[in-house]
Amino acid sequence: MPESKYCPVCHAINPGTAERCECGYRFRGDDNITDRDVAAAERRHKLRRAAEGVIVAAVIAVLVLLTVFAGIKVLLYVIAGLVAAIVVTLIVLKVIGVLDRKKNKNK
Ligand SMILES: [Zn+2]
Repeated sequence: MPESKYCPVCHAINPGTAERCECGYRFRGDDNITDRDVAAAERRHKLRRAAEGVIVAAVIAVLVLLTVFAGIKVLLYVIAGLVAAIVVTLIVLKVIGVLDRKKNKNK
C-alpha cells in the first residue's frame, strides 16, 4: 500500500489509508484511475467550489441588505444566530464523523 495518495483533481496529498479526498475524489487501486474518473471528480470539485461561492455571496448579500434595511442591531442578532448555527453544525458533524470511524474500525 502506498504511503500517500496523490489527488489528480485538487493536487492534495492524502494519507495512504484515505478512500476519498477532501474534494470528493474517490481513490481506487493505483492502476485504474481513468480520465473519465478524473473528469467526473473535477466536475464535482468545480460544482462544490461554485456552490460555496454562491452561498458565501448570498450570505454577504443578505447581511448587507439587513444592515441597510433593518439596521446594525438586527445584523448583530443575525450574526450571533449564524455563529450558533455553525457551531451546532460542526459539533453534529464531528459526532457523526466519530461514529463513522468507529463503524469502519469494527468492519
Ligand atoms: Zn482532491
